[in-house]
Parts: sequence; C-alpha cells; structure tokens
Amino acid sequence: MKKFELEKFVSASVASLSAYVPGEQPQERGWVKLNTNEFPYPPSHKAAEAVMSEIGGDAGKLRLYPDPISANLRAGVAKYFGCGLTSENVIATNGSDDLLNIVVRAFSDEKKSVAALDPSYSLYPVLTQMQGAEFIEIAFDKGLEIPFEKIANCGANLFFMTNPNAPTAKGFSKIDIIKILENFKGIVVVDEAYAPFSDWTAVELVANYPNLIVAGTMSKGWGLAGMRVGWGIANKAIIGILDRVRDSYNLDRLAQVSAVAALKDKSYYENFRAKVIESRQDLENFLVKLGWDFVKSSANFIFVRPARANGKSGVAVAKDLFEFLKGGKILVRYFPKIANIADGLRVTIGTPTQMKKFKNRVLEWLATEKE
Ligand code: PMP
Repeated sequence: MKKFELEKFVSASVASLSAYVPGEQPQERGWVKLNTNEFPYPPSHKAAEAVMSEIGGDAGKLRLYPDPISANLRAGVAKYFGCGLTSENVIATNGSDDLLNIVVRAFSDEKKSVAALDPSYSLYPVLTQMQGAEFIEIAFDKGLEIPFEKIANCGANLFFMTNPNAPTAKGFSKIDIIKILENFKGIVVVDEAYAPFSDWTAVELVANYPNLIVAGTMSKGWGLAGMRVGWGIANKAIIGILDRVRDSYNLDRLAQVSAVAALKDKSYYENFRAKVIESRQDLENFLVKLGWDFVKSSANFIFVRPARANGKSGVAVAKDLFEFLKGGKILVRYFPKIANIADGLRVTIGTPTQMKKFKNRVLEWLATEKE
C-alpha cells in the first residue's frame, strides 16, 4: 500500500478535536431508554400519515430532491408560535444541532469567540473548536444562578444560553433572558430544546431583539428525534445570514412533511406533554423521599446526585448506580469526563411503566448496601 501520513493533512482545528459523544443508542430491543431525552410517547399519527402519503404507492417522489428551503415547514413554525412571525423569521434545520453548527459557522472565527455557561450542552465547544474559534466557559454562580456581569463582559461574539439548561434542567425566566439580551453585545442563541416542558418561550422576544436567535427542535417535545427536525427563529436579517451557510437540501422530504403535520396537532402534544410533566413530578416526589440532591426540573429530565443509604454520594456512587441500572437494562446519562457533574446522573422522564422500573431498580440498589 502507498505510504501516506494522513495526520499531516488534517486541518489544525480538527487535529486536536475530540468528537461530541452522544448518549448510547442500543439497537436491540428491551432497554428502558432514559439517556437521550427523547419523548417517551409516539408522535402524532398525523405525522406518520403524512410520511406514508409522501412516500405514496411507488415511492416515486423519493427520486426528486426535497424543497431546498422547507417553505411549508418555515411557514408552519411561524404559524405555530404566532407573535407576528412570518416565514422570513424562520430557518428549518436538520435537527437543532444543524442550526447550532450553522450559527457557529456564521458568527465565529479565529477572532470572534463563542461563550456558554458551564455546564451546558457539550456540543457548543466542539462546534467552536472545529471553526478554529476560542470557546469561553463561564461558570454559573452559586446555586446555578446566572453570572450576568461575567456574560456581559466576556468579550465573545456569540453566546449560547441553554434554557431550560442541559444537563441540570433548571429553567430561567423571561426577565433573566432579557437581562442577557440587553447587556451582551453580540449574538445570543437561546437554545430551547427543552422549552416544550417549561412554561414559556423566548420566541416572543425576537420582535424586540435583533441579536436573538431562538433554537428549537422536534426531537424532545414532539417525538420526532428520528426525523431530525429543528429550527432557528430570529430577525429576518439574521435568517438571511444563516441561509448563506446551510446545506442546500438540509431537510429530507419525510422530515419536512412529518414536522408540518406534527406542528398542527397541538392538542395531541399538549395531552402527552402533560403526562410527561406528571411523571416528572412523581419522580421528584420519589427523590425528595430518598433525600437525594436534585435540581427542580423545567425539562423532560432530572439531574440528580444519588446517595447511598448511608448518605455517601460522589463520583464513585454515581458511577455505581449508573452501572447497576445498566445491569438492569436501564440506561441513564452519566458524564464521567465533566468534573462538576460527574457525581450526578441525568434521567430522562419516560412513561409511568418505565419510571416504575427505574424507581424499583434504584430501591434494589439502595438495598445492596456498600461502603
Ligand atoms: N440543544 C440541547 C440543549 C440538547 O440537549 C440537544 C440534544 N442533544 C440539542 C440541542 C440537539 O437536538 P437535535 O439535534 O436532536 O434537535
């Protein structure tokens, strides 16, 4: 074989890059999957019907490229949120990861840095490094309070605010977000992947803040993670910039039609989201009874620091419970490489049956007393 030193040819920013590590996606059945914050209920049957109809009898349409601008979906998102938005305020993306990637490419470079709070979504630094830009991590104040001054003075060009936060699930108020928008000089992305489980959205602020991009996804609140649909909502000048950067056909046909149909079926989703919120409350009650430390959740997951029956907690305890759950075919998310959260587990809210299995396994673990 020809001798070839691949490393010499890799771009400088990719050479030192560690890829984002997504939660496990076991392909065999039988797992209780509480590790990647998917919706525990199926999507609206209207989404499935739209997919079947788009495929049609002979799947002939699959021969043709999809609508490059996802026009129906942009219009559907604008209509869903109202607030005077039009299609010109929306970009449709291949999951919201695609939107985040587009935003980083459009608004950062070697001289224009990116900032986010620590902890928040661990994809942001990876995207930033790929772009050859500096990533600034700003620690939360005590009690996971927002360090407003540090954000305003961090000097970044682009700031990611995950609201509700991931992985802690803490939700922040409209007043908090406005304070950031007023004082931070660059572009603010409010990443609302989990907003369908909270009580407000920053979309209404787009009309007043030309520096705001609200990121959304159908992966968490609409049961369509497998379709990869997300969006950005912003002032139309920002959307124009983002459109320069995206792939020309960034959403496939089936993704587009399923998303449009799902957005129309509001009552279906209101009903099932209410069930998720009920199960979240039930899990919080369970954790209170155990006396475990957790953050009150505004999302479809809970970040909890487990403790042994003797009160002992910490990294080893979290790891032990993670493995014990896994041994019972229950997957939760564990972040061993992120120091300030390695002593906790992120547990997605599942169906009542899944949550019962989770709770029972936790009780079993507590009964196997260890040092
Ligand atoms: N933002 C946050 C905070 C997330 O947790 C996730 C899911 N990992 C995403 C965005 C991306 O979701 P998707 O690409 O499925 O829309």
